[in-house]
Amino acid sequence: MAYLRPTEGSGGRRAYKVLAPADGAEIGQYDVANAEDVARAIARAREVQPGWANTPVKQRAKLMRKALKVLVSRREEFVERLTRETGRPELDTLMIEMFAGADCMNYYARRAPKLLAEHRVGMHLLRMKKAKMVYRPLGVVAVISPWNGPFILSANPTVQAVLAGNAVVLKPSEVTPEAGRIVVEIFEAAGFPKDLVQVVLGDGETGAALIEGGVDKVTFTGSVRTGRIIGEICGRNLVPCTLELGGKDPMLVFEDADIDRAAAGAVFGGVMNTGQFCSGIERIYVHESVIDAFTEKVVAKVRQLEAGRDYGPFIFEKQADIVEGQVKQAVEAGATIHVGGERDGTTFPPTVLTGITQSMKLMQEETFGPILPIQPFATEDQAVALANDCEYGLSASVWTRDKARGERVARRLQSGSATINETSMIYGALELPFGGLKASGLGQVNSADGLLNYAQAFPILSDRFGNKDESVWFPYTEDKVDGMRKALKAIWGTPLRWIV
Ligand code: NAD
Repeated sequence: MAYLRPTEGSGGRRAYKVLAPADGAEIGQYDVANAEDVARAIARAREVQPGWANTPVKQRAKLMRKALKVLVSRREEFVERLTRETGRPELDTLMIEMFAGADCMNYYARRAPKLLAEHRVGMHLLRMKKAKMVYRPLGVVAVISPWNGPFILSANPTVQAVLAGNAVVLKPSEVTPEAGRIVVEIFEAAGFPKDLVQVVLGDGETGAALIEGGVDKVTFTGSVRTGRIIGEICGRNLVPCTLELGGKDPMLVFEDADIDRAAAGAVFGGVMNTGQFCSGIERIYVHESVIDAFTEKVVAKVRQLEAGRDYGPFIFEKQADIVEGQVKQAVEAGATIHVGGERDGTTFPPTVLTGITQSMKLMQEETFGPILPIQPFATEDQAVALANDCEYGLSASVWTRDKARGERVARRLQSGSATINETSMIYGALELPFGGLKASGLGQVNSADGLLNYAQAFPILSDRFGNKDESVWFPYTEDKVDGMRKALKAIWGTPLRWIV
């Protein structure tokens, strides 16, 4: 079964038919936007953006609250459409997409007026001057999103970019066009200026046209492979970008951990959204003294999961081949499957494996499926070394009753964030910055800084007293040289330095 079938669109264009992952029924068809379509969208965004930039932030926030109302009042319809397109349990759609989508609209609408307000900055040395900070919109922001959280990963950056005064051209994954359409419908229904938020549907070709189309910022969420391509193009064009890429998040379970909680956390963190979660648990390292007890509990909990209720088919059918290949390779290299392990079409049941070694693909490459490979460790140092022995570094979790150890270990991990006795929830905690180290990305999103990253922090400095001249302006004289020497000594060589 394929979920995406190339077909011919209107006027001989490339097009895709989209099929529902759950039953293969055709959901719809769309034409792939070409370079001209993308250029038109960017040009339209450029026309509408200056008016929006001049709209007070409070007014922008008011409209965002209307968008929130649209989301909440039409939630059933959106949940139905998003669930159909992704084939996953309804609770995943409600939690990952709707709940998080409502939260980002409300959170940033409430805070944007304060965070983006221009303000004075006191001068520590140049006391004869006054300065203010102004937050200027960047212009047109390209948002390119993946298929695993197709609504939230399109909506959250769009909400922040729009509140900061930008127009957005959104390119959702070719696999999940409906999610992109819903974002635009919400903004339209809320009464935002027409075309302030536009969607262009298509695959990598459409995305590439958008990146090269002269936008002012790129927010990309997706694979490392595409992220590198986009990073190179943005580097060449000197366009700022954030790259939120893949993950291979380790879970470290120490001998003093609450094994029940850790086992439940492993199953939730590994299987939520059918494992298609960038900061889900992908590899599990357990102290050798408790690995058997832990594995037993994990297996028991996995046996209680039900297809359809707790997990679905893959959102993108190609994922089934990747997951199957990694599991097969591990088994051929000596791993033991305790539960699961057999692919059924485009569904792969939650699978627990032991007899794992660090060089297996399951421990090195992103799996993006409901697979729980469990490997033992003997010492804290070894646990940290194993966790860090990977090209990714998105998030990580440490499980122990010893708070000091939890923090100590967390601080040694090469990742963008860490949780202690928790599965990763950093992306959903909007006050915290989220991003990856190493191959997991560039830059951070969310938090106050995430919103401010959609604006140019523009300082304006002026003279306070309307002086005609400045002591260091031309001509240079002996007196000025002497004065600078004295000032250097008087300020930096005396206790005066404590007050500047
Ligand atoms: P992908 O890289 O294949 O595609 C992502 C988006 O990029 C899609 O919209 C795609 O059409 C577009 N694209 C592809 N080639 C392009 C090009 N040359 N130029 C511009 N755009 C192009 O990723 P995917 O398979 O859709 O998503 C899964 C990946 O996303 C996983 O690796 C996952 O870990 C990652 N992800 C990361 C985060 C995070 O916040 N770090 C969150 C969710 C998903």
